[in-house]
Formats: sequence, structure tokens, C-alpha cells
Amino acid sequence: MKKIGIIGCGFSGTMVAVHLIRNTTEAMELIMIDPSADTGKGIAYTPYSKKHLLNVVTEKMSAFKHDTAHFLEWVLQQKDFSDSDRNILSQSFLPRYLYGAYLQNIWQEALQEAETKQCKITRMCDAATDIEYIDDGIKLYLKDGIEIVVDECVIATGNHTPGNVKINNTAFYESEFYFQNPWKESTVTNLDSSLPVFIIGNGLTMVDTIIGLHEKGFSNEIYSISNNGFNILPHRHIGVQYKDLANELPSKIDLLSILHLFNKHIKKIKKFGLSAEPIIDSLRPYTQKIWQALSDKEKKVFMGRLRHLWGLARHRIPLHIHDYIQQLRIHNKLHIVAGKIIDIERNENDCSVRYYDKRLNQERTIKVARVINCTGPETNLEKAGHLLLKKAIEKGYITQDPLRIGINANPSSFEVLNREAQSMKHLYTLGGNLKGVLWESTAVNELRDQAERLAIHILDTNRS
Ligand SMILES: Cc1cc2nc3c(=O)[nH]c(=O)nc-3n(C[C@H](O)[C@H](O)[C@H](O)COP(=O)(O)OP(=O)(O)OC[C@H]3O[C@@H](n4cnc5c(N)ncnc54)[C@H](O)[C@@H]3O)c2cc1C
Repeated sequence: MKKIGIIGCGFSGTMVAVHLIRNTTEAMELIMIDPSADTGKGIAYTPYSKKHLLNVVTEKMSAFKHDTAHFLEWVLQQKDFSDSDRNILSQSFLPRYLYGAYLQNIWQEALQEAETKQCKITRMCDAATDIEYIDDGIKLYLKDGIEIVVDECVIATGNHTPGNVKINNTAFYESEFYFQNPWKESTVTNLDSSLPVFIIGNGLTMVDTIIGLHEKGFSNEIYSISNNGFNILPHRHIGVQYKDLANELPSKIDLLSILHLFNKHIKKIKKFGLSAEPIIDSLRPYTQKIWQALSDKEKKVFMGRLRHLWGLARHRIPLHIHDYIQQLRIHNKLHIVAGKIIDIERNENDCSVRYYDKRLNQERTIKVARVINCTGPETNLEKAGHLLLKKAIEKGYITQDPLRIGINANPSSFEVLNREAQSMKHLYTLGGNLKGVLWESTAVNELRDQAERLAIHILDTNRS
């Protein structure tokens, strides 16, 4: 009986398992490993607040590529939503915990289907710490000392905790005033409002953190710093489908020609009072192809100069949440700083953040109750502190892409590439680990497709 190990049971690992169960015609055993007991939810769909929302509308959040209304239909069957207007619901941003419940439901159904087939599911609440190719398969070493040999192994380790920003006084990062993992509820609890809070990063997680802080009663000012201090954008053109740019995509792609095309279409769309987001959205089906066509040098230029603009247009928030954030800014409760942290000192009862404010062109120091890191998942595996991936790199089984934003892999077979740039048979990855190869490899929209294709690849007995 074929044994398949899946390391990581967030959306990616779980959906690979779901498709393996759905599509298998032979007996198999799935060994699913994750320290968390929640199968399917991962970091994104175990929010500590019911106010944390999906950043994609309901109609685009189906877990199945070929059943696009699957999530919407499921929501309509839930007690709290059964009398909701279908159209409104399809365009709304629902709570992330609800999506977690949806994924758990999918998993429960998959377990029932597994029982009707010769599918054995072994779920281990543990972390994989090492892997080793041996004569009869791949050996997985778990933190609790268990060793398992599998025939195929999927690395679905997903989002890493944000990396620390560079400061001189790195000892601060050991202090109780620093919160490196913004997805834990402890970042917003046990806090009085006598001092402000300082957030590093001003993207979607900053917004969730502000919502979390206010939910727990925090009322002092909040500072958020990022290099550019961009104002996070709302979803403001829902339903607008722009097609003209995609129709003009050249067959031979380079960064400069894409940029020219972009600017041309932005001018065009501005005449109608629209902004760049529908253009960026229209590129979504092509971004992976465009990214793969760019040279390493062009990718580097993109990462250095354009990534932040791209991220701004891509990572938007629902309009009512945007209004909330704007109100906080208007009433001086939220200060979005463009600049750089210089250093952070721990005091007896608080900490002092020294930073450079680009707009004021001056250095400032502010006393705060805590510093929360909302810079987004660390992608550089040398810094991520992930034991399994670190060891796999040391052994030469996996390598990082030149930009150090993911793992080198073959995007068709999902096999990781070793130190000699050769496919490692039976060792696969997907999701965020493919960012360097595909660039857009983060959202459900991309991951659901990858999970299905990878499962079918694993089950394909004719593959080379
Ligand atoms: C806060 C947040 C909100 C998001 N919201 C949305 C949204 O609204 N819409 C959208 O489309 N996308 C959203 N995303 C993108 C999200 O990354 C994907 O939708 C998806 O959830 C990623 O799933 P994953 O399984 O690849 O990664 P993860 O969810 O990170 O899961 C990885 C799992 O691997 C486990 N793991 C890691 N290392 C090991 C190990 N060594 N051994 C065993 N297990 C291990 C972890 O415990 C974790 O459970 C959001 C992401 C975040 C972080």
C-alpha cells in the first residue's frame, strides 16, 4: 500500500489529501503531520478574532477550482446565513473563522469518503524536523522522536513567522515587550492603554492587529511604520473586469514592455475614474507565466522597485474596514509612518523605539507599551528558523530560489530541485514555498489548483 506523508495540514496540505482521497482508485495510507490539531485551517483560518475577515469575496473563495460556488453554497446552508441574499453574500467579505469551519467540513467529508475506499488516514500532532532518502523511501523524523518511512512526501509548511527587522540591540527581541508572531492572540491581550503600541509593517496583518487591539479595549494611539508608509487600499472596484491589457500581452515577455503596457492602460482607465487595481487583477491568470518568463535580473528589479506597489494594489481591505482605518487616522489614533526603525531599547516597564521619519526628515523616539511585528511571513529560509527546511537545505535535497523567497521546484510536477538542480523524485512542495518559482502562490485561488494538480500527479502511475 502506497504511503504518502504530508507535512503541514493547513489549506495546502489538507486539500492535497482531499484530492488524493477523491481521486485514488487504489489503497493508500496518508500520514498527515502538523503540530496543530486543527486540520485544514492553518494560520489564516484560525484567527483569534471573529472580526478578522477574508480579504477575498465569498464567490472567489471556493476550495475547489472546478466548483466555483462551493463556498457560497456551503455558507447559504449555514443557520446564520440561510436567509441571506445570494448576490450580496457572494460579494461580501466573510469572517475567516467561518472559512476555517468550511475547510473542516470539507475534511470531515473527505474522511467519510476515505472510509468507503481503502484509504487509511493517520493524523499526527507533531512537527517534522528532518527528512532522509533511504533505500525504500523517504524517512521522516518527528519532534517527538517518531520515525516514519513514506513513498511520497509533500512539504506544505506554508507561512513562517515574520522575520525580525535589523536593529543594533537584538537583545530587545528576547524581551516581553516584543511580539514576533502577530497571529497569536497574546499580541493584543494583557495590555492597558497608558502607552501607545508600535506596529512594524502596515499591511493586512496591521489592520487585523488594530481590530484585535480595539476589541480588547485598547484605546491609546497606534504607530505603524513601513518603508513607504503607503495607505492600505480598499476594494473599490468590485465587479469591474478589465480585459484590454491581457489582450495586448506580448508573446515575448520582458519587464520593461509589461511596465509600458501597464502605464498605458492605467492612463486609459483613469479617464473613467478608476485606479490600477482592476488592471492588476486582470493579470492574475497570467502573472505566473509572466514571472517565469522574466530573467533573474528582471525579477530582482521587480522585487527592489515594484514589489511594494504590487503588494499595495493586491492586498486590499473591505471598504468598511478601510473607513474604520481612515477614521482612526483622522482622529490621530493611528499614525502611519514612512521610515525605518533605527533601534529599540527595553526599559523597565516599556520600550523606546527610535526611528527615522522620511516625511518629517527627522529622527524620533517614542515610548511604547509593546512592539508587534506585522511585516508578513518570512520567506528567506536562512532566516525563517524552520528546522526541517534548514536540514533539507543542508543535505542538498532542497534549494532556495535566487531571490530567496521560496524553494526551487518544478512547477509542473511540484518536485523540489536539489543542489544539482535536479528534480528530487517523490518529494514535493506547493503553496508559499513556490513564491520564487511562480510569484503569486499565496491565495486560495492559486493553492486550490496546485493541490488538485499535485494529488493527480502523485496518483499518476504512468508518470516518469
Ligand atoms: C493571516 C492570513 C490571512 C489570509 N487570508 C487570506 C484570505 O482571506 N484569502 C486567501 O485567499 N488567502 C489568504 N491568506 C493566504 C493563505 O496563506 C492561504 O490562503 C492558505 O491558507 C495557506 O495555506 P498553507 O497550508 O499553504 O499554509 P499555512 O496556513 O501556513 O499552513 C501550514 C501548516 O504547516 C504546518 N507546519 C509548518 N511546519 C511544519 C513542520 N515542520 N511539521 C509539521 N507541520 C508543519 C503549520 O503548523 C501550518 O498548520 C491569508 C494568509 C494569512 C497569513
